[in-house]
Amino acid sequence: MFRINEHFLKLSAGYLFPEIARRVASFAAQNPAVAPRIIRCGIGDVTEPLPPAAAEAMHRAVDDLTQRDTFHGYPPPAGYDFVRTAIAQDDFRSRGCAIEDDEIFLSDGSKPDASAILEILGTGNRVAITDPVYPVYADTNVMAGNSGKALEGGGYDGFTYLPCTPANGFSPALPACVVDVIYLCSPNNPTGVVLDRAALTRWVQYARDHGAVILFDAAYEAFIREEGLPHSIYEIDGATECAIEFRSFSKVGGFTGVRCGYTVMPKALMATASDGTRVSLHSLWMRRWATCSNGVSWPVQCATAALYTTAGKAQTRALTDFYLENARVLARACETHGLATYGATNSPYVWMTCPRGMGSWETFDMLLREAQVVTTPGAGFGRCGEGFIRISAFNSRAHVEEVARRLAVLARR
Ligand SMILES: *Cc1c(COP(=O)(O)O)cnc(C)c1O
Repeated sequence: MFRINEHFLKLSAGYLFPEIARRVASFAAQNPAVAPRIIRCGIGDVTEPLPPAAAEAMHRAVDDLTQRDTFHGYPPPAGYDFVRTAIAQDDFRSRGCAIEDDEIFLSDGSKPDASAILEILGTGNRVAITDPVYPVYADTNVMAGNSGKALEGGGYDGFTYLPCTPANGFSPALPACVVDVIYLCSPNNPTGVVLDRAALTRWVQYARDHGAVILFDAAYEAFIREEGLPHSIYEIDGATECAIEFRSFSKVGGFTGVRCGYTVMPKALMATASDGTRVSLHSLWMRRWATCSNGVSWPVQCATAALYTTAGKAQTRALTDFYLENARVLARACETHGLATYGATNSPYVWMTCPRGMGSWETFDMLLREAQVVTTPGAGFGRCGEGFIRISAFNSRAHVEEVARRLAVLARR
C-alpha cells in the first residue's frame, strides 16, 4: 500500500481565503438585493491591466515562436542572460548591492519559490515566522514536516512565532530561543510595515552569529517611496552570507496571471553538512532548478525584461503610484472615522484597528453586512492579527472611493 505525506493532515482546516469566500457567498445568497453592491478588498490580487511595454513584448515574443528563425524551445533553467542581467543590474547593483547575474534565478513566482526553497533545506530546522504572517511560509513548513500539530486558536506547535504589534511598531524582536530559518517580509503582507535598516542589520547579525538563514520576501519592494528604507536585504553588510531574497513581478507589473518572479541566491551563502563539509546553497539550488524545472516561457521572460526598459519603468512606477494613492484614500477614510491604521504609505495594504472591543471576524462580518465591503480579518494571519482588518488597495479608484465612503458604518460603532 502506498503512503501519503501525512504532514498535510496537520494543516488547519479553515484556510483563510476559502472561509472568506464561503461567508461572502452565503451573504450574497441570503441578500440577493444588495449582492451586486459587494466590493472586494480581500484577496491581494491586482486589478489594473498589464503595462503596455510588457504586453507589446509578449506579443512580439509570441510572433517569434511562429517563425523557424526566431523560435525558442526550452529556456535555460534559471532564465535567459538578458533578463538576469537586467534584474541584477537594476534591482541590485544600481543600489550598491554586489549581486551577480548568475545569482538570479527566474521562476513562475514567489509562492512557488517559497515552497521550492524547502527542498534544499533539511527537515527539522527550527523555523521562525512573524505573527501575523503570510500563511504560505507556515503552511509550506507544515507540509515539509517542520512543525507539530495545529494549535487551538491558530498557529502550529514547533514554530517560533515573532509577535508584531503596535508596541514594537510591527518590527519583531529577535527570538528568545535559537532558530535556524527566519522568514521576513518587507514591505509586509499583511501589516504594510517596512523594516528599517537598523532592524535588518539586527537580523543579519543574528543570522551570522547563529548560523541561521534569512528568507527575505520583498514582493512589495516597488511600493517603497520613503527615502532611506532598505529595498533589499543585500543593502545590509554581510547579508550575502546569510540571506536569500524572493522577488515577484505580480504586484509591480500586474503579473499575478502572467506568472514571473525570481530568487536571489548569493554564491557566498554556505551551509555545513552533517559530516562537516561546507556546501554552497547556490550549487544545490542550481541543481534543484536544472532537475525540477524547465524554466519560464519565452513570452513571459520577454515581458519581464520589458519592465526594465525606460518605458516599462515609467509604467510600473505609474501603476504602483496608482495603488499607493488608493491606499492613501482608504487610510484617510479610516482615520476620519477614528480608526488607527498602519502600513498604507509604502505598501498597498491598510492594516486597520477594529472598532473598540470588536474582533476581526466580527468586524469583517459587519463590513460585509452593513457596507457590502469584503476585507480580510487579521486573525486569519495569526493570533497577533486579532483586532485588525487588512484592506487591500488593489482596486479601481471608483471602488476605492466608494469603499472609503462606506467605511462610515464603522464610525457609528
Ligand atoms: C503576492 C505575494 C507574493 C507573490 O507571489 P507570486 O507567486 O509571485 O504571485 C509573495 N509574497 C507575498 C507576501 C505576497 O503577498
